[in-house]
Amino acid sequence: MTEKILVIDEGTTSTRAMLFAADGQELGSAQHALTQNYPEPGRVEHDASEIWEYSLAAARAMVEKAGGGANIASIGITNQRETIIFWNRQTGEPLCPAIVWQDRRTASICDNLKTEGHEAVVQQRTGLLLDPYFSGSKIGWALEHWPQLREAGDNLAVGTVESYLVFRLTGGLHITDASNAARTALMDIDNGRWDAELCALFGVPMGILPEITDCSGRFAETAEGIFDAPIAICGMAGDQQAATIGQACFEEGDTKATYGTGAFVLSYTGVKRRHSAHRILSTIGWQIDGERHYALEGSVFVAGSLMQWLRDQLGMIVSAGESEALAQSVADNAGVYIVPALSGLGAPYWQADARAAISGLSFSATKAHIVRAALEAMSYQTADLKSAFAADGADWKRLRIDGGMVANSWMSQDLADILAIEVDRPQFVETTALGAAMLAALGAGLYPDLGSAAQMRTGGQVFTPAMDDASRNARMAGWRSAVASVLTSKQGAG
Ligand code: ADP
Repeated sequence: MTEKILVIDEGTTSTRAMLFAADGQELGSAQHALTQNYPEPGRVEHDASEIWEYSLAAARAMVEKAGGGANIASIGITNQRETIIFWNRQTGEPLCPAIVWQDRRTASICDNLKTEGHEAVVQQRTGLLLDPYFSGSKIGWALEHWPQLREAGDNLAVGTVESYLVFRLTGGLHITDASNAARTALMDIDNGRWDAELCALFGVPMGILPEITDCSGRFAETAEGIFDAPIAICGMAGDQQAATIGQACFEEGDTKATYGTGAFVLSYTGVKRRHSAHRILSTIGWQIDGERHYALEGSVFVAGSLMQWLRDQLGMIVSAGESEALAQSVADNAGVYIVPALSGLGAPYWQADARAAISGLSFSATKAHIVRAALEAMSYQTADLKSAFAADGADWKRLRIDGGMVANSWMSQDLADILAIEVDRPQFVETTALGAAMLAALGAGLYPDLGSAAQMRTGGQVFTPAMDDASRNARMAGWRSAVASVLTSKQGAG
């Protein structure tokens, strides 16, 4: 097969385009960093024009690399989820800043809805919880606070990032795929449709929402002038669902963890949705030919962003990669623990206003101990998720890992040691982009089904647990008391 696949991977910190051969081989990539705006504590915004312009520039670079659009079978899009964009249907121009998934401005809205007893219906219909993380409360807040949105009248459109990119690429198609729609808290994930009652709850008029589609299929072609030739858009999925596909988690119980800005564990549960009793999310993994496949998901808000914070705010490291040698340079954590609740705690705690702590410091603690504690926090947060999944009857037997952080082999081994299961790191860790390529290849008819497209995934390295139980238990006990102090201080403040 000589057909190439173009993937647009619009992440939180950067937007990237990648070119793949039909067998999964990466042929090239182009990337632009995105500007992060923090207008107030707890608020995170992106410029949607920048998202579009950088995505287009990166995609154009890859079309050129492919020798023109005629050599590209299809486009797959994957994206930061939950982030919302409002735009004008006539012009495609954004009407306000994009409110990013990390943004906590709607914490009090969610708390009020919780107090009023609405969480049960949200969880029942959407598989999610009442947390500012999800798009619904963000959309409601923006409509209430930004008058230009109301003034746009019938020209107002809203969508998550893939929806906006498709709108711009096609010159006006307003769709969203089921995996992204599942993250808005506005969709009934059992029937795959927007839910009128939830839309009313969050103050979202249904007319401004996109149409929900499959994750794979021939959706539309790019409009004239976008590339040198029209290219079919054939794949769409939220980044974590795309990574689940890219890791070929197609058997019930297959589980992956992606360590990027945040960390996200998804465990495939088949075509039947599972309900969690332990504050784990239930979500749509993907929808193909109208059939929905489900996953359980644990979302950790702070992962690689902790390394960025150590680098940019504290100046403790020059690069994230340096953390590996620093962690290795000391024998243990010297009692230092970091609870990285810099933007609240996600699963399984869900405390939007919990704040981070570095505990156990003594005069013998060094920079290396603190950096090591930061990496160790990834293992502890993942272990907390594993316990919650296990309590829901969905324990993991093995974990497939990916994302920018897993370049760190020390961290990968620490994960295996603390989780006490094998941890599998593919050679090609850009599984998010690979998953989108698989969906786009399937949609273009290059493969008959997703299982066959899985041959695009490469094998990799397995990290085997090598820590004794006593050391593991001692470390987990230290973590639990560090977390408890963060949760207690929150209760004390409240
Ligand atoms: P995203 O897709 O969320 O933008 P990536 O998957 O590209 O994120 O991962 C980037 C993150 O990984 C950054 O936050 C960076 O700090 C972190 N990172 C990159 N390399 C390493 C490393 N060797 N050790 C620890 N963290 C790393």
